[in-house]
Amino acid sequence: MSHCIFCRIVQKTLPARILREDALCLAFEDISPKAPCHILIIPKKHIESLNSMDEADGLLIPRLFAVTRELAEEKGVATSGYRVVINTGPDAGQSVFHIHFHLLGGRQMAWPPG
Ligand code: 5GP
Ligand code: ZN
Repeated sequence: MSHCIFCRIVQKTLPARILREDALCLAFEDISPKAPCHILIIPKKHIESLNSMDEADGLLIPRLFAVTRELAEEKGVATSGYRVVINTGPDAGQSVFHIHFHLLGGRQMAWPPG
């Protein structure tokens, strides 16, 4: 999907600070961090949102969580705490329609989220 910015990051036609890459996923720093640690973890495959994931994507889901947890450890927030967010659709404020986990940490967070 050439018009999708995250597909362009996967294809390396748009630069990003990439932290992790394997056959299934990619993790990179958010361009506009909302916390001292703000990393996006995405599947390389273009999937619009959680609404469009299906059972064929079954292997992907544990891999995305494993990468997220490993990065939380690497960034030193695993014990202090972190939040994993998947904004889905307009009410949640999804702005990039290529599914992504936000890994946020390094500061105290409010609940409920805004
Ligand atoms: P959403 O609002 O869809 O949940 O999250 C999209 C995220 O992508 C935002 O946090 C935004 O800062 C980030 N983002 C948007 N464009 C780019 C980009 O070109 N590069 C990187 N690294 N992050 C981006
Ligand atoms: Zn995409």
